[in-house]
Amino acid sequence: MDAKAYTEKILTSIRECSPGQTEFYQAATEVFESLVPLLEEEKRYQEHSILERIVLPERTIIFRVTWMDDSNTIRTNLGYRVQFNSTLGPYKGGLRFHPSVNLGIVKFLGFEQIFKNALTNLQIGGGKGGSNFNPKGKSDAEVMRFCQAFMNELHRHIGQTRDVPAGDIGVGAREIGYLFGQYKLLTAHFEGIVTGKGIGWGGSFGRREATGYGSVYFAEHILNQHGDEIKGKRCAVSGAGNVATYTIEKLHSMGAIPISCSDSRGTIHHPKGIDVKTLKAIKEVGRESLAKYAELHPDATYIPLHNYPEGGHAVWTLPCDVAFPSATQNELNFVDAKNLVANGCILVNEGANMPTTPDAYEYLRAHGVLFGPAKAANAGGVAVSQLEMAQNASMQRWSFAEVDTRLFGIMKNIFDTAYATSKEFGDEGNLLMGANIAGFRKVADAMIDEGAV
Ligand code: GLU
Repeated sequence: MDAKAYTEKILTSIRECSPGQTEFYQAATEVFESLVPLLEEEKRYQEHSILERIVLPERTIIFRVTWMDDSNTIRTNLGYRVQFNSTLGPYKGGLRFHPSVNLGIVKFLGFEQIFKNALTNLQIGGGKGGSNFNPKGKSDAEVMRFCQAFMNELHRHIGQTRDVPAGDIGVGAREIGYLFGQYKLLTAHFEGIVTGKGIGWGGSFGRREATGYGSVYFAEHILNQHGDEIKGKRCAVSGAGNVATYTIEKLHSMGAIPISCSDSRGTIHHPKGIDVKTLKAIKEVGRESLAKYAELHPDATYIPLHNYPEGGHAVWTLPCDVAFPSATQNELNFVDAKNLVANGCILVNEGANMPTTPDAYEYLRAHGVLFGPAKAANAGGVAVSQLEMAQNASMQRWSFAEVDTRLFGIMKNIFDTAYATSKEFGDEGNLLMGANIAGFRKVADAMIDEGAV
């Protein structure tokens, strides 16, 4: 079968076996489209049924989470852990707590994670998990009881050489602490079974900052390749969570101007640059709405959600040189891409997972906008998670500078690999294709080595 027909056959089988899992289908389609030139050249991937195998998680765990809210009402949620692929190492990937979480979302994230983790060149497989639990508006005690109930089931499936979860949307230092504490209580083992731990109890310096810092390093590597740099660039950033916050912090330190951030209720536009201290105080400490930012900074504008332009998002209407979508999947659509191009944006660098819709990506590419694909651009978080595992295993702790230097090098290596691979397959600079092929090839070759399992 020719390569294109092979990829289409597997995509059809996904549609039939996993109806309604639209995000998973979208993620698989994007990867498979990139793979056609590789599959044409290397017949052995088809001979070893790699695509058939790689789209199926090795194991999918779905469980009930039962917890008690503050009024002593028993509440239920669904919990997930998709152990997608362990060819390169223990399953590794975050947990997302958000009302939108369902099996299709967890599978899309887990699928992406396989190739992202492979690109880091570290020994980590791909997995993802989470729950439709909404931490927003819950008390600390409720979040703690939920995390404990979640771990009551999850603990039997994870382990430091088996599966090592971490944070994602809705899961930060607080949740990781409660999850770790409950694992320890249930098993009587103090082990690095999650990453993103507190510095005092097994965490790594630089993990909190890693995804955002890594994303900016990746953007810098892209711009350097084109004889340019991030310094002096006006950058539109979406999101106000861990990725966005540390993207903004690093942009400042590299001499760029991060002009925006956003949450589910609105966008802040601060042309002279987002104040990181205020952002952290509102989001990391206070867990409040961004509306407060404009009260504290009268020269900033707050654009509430209902003022978003037709079919697009206000954050992408702001004139900028570089866009850092750092909130969530499919947050940058065709209308947004048109707005960015019209305003002179030269680079879109994906801090979130799959934030750009396929038609938006095509429009950006057709108009010569440079593109840092999520699997490569946001791999810094999971890369430093692996450094945290390495420190735990050797019972050492490295300095912030040591971790940051390694992160910078890892991001450079990912860029070089994606770039060289794009060149090898005749589309120099197409980093989406380069990253997909390079990540896939690493996993697929190892799957062949490890036999039919
Ligand atoms: N959730 C992050 C990601 O999307 C980090 C995962 C990890 O550190 O394991 O890559």
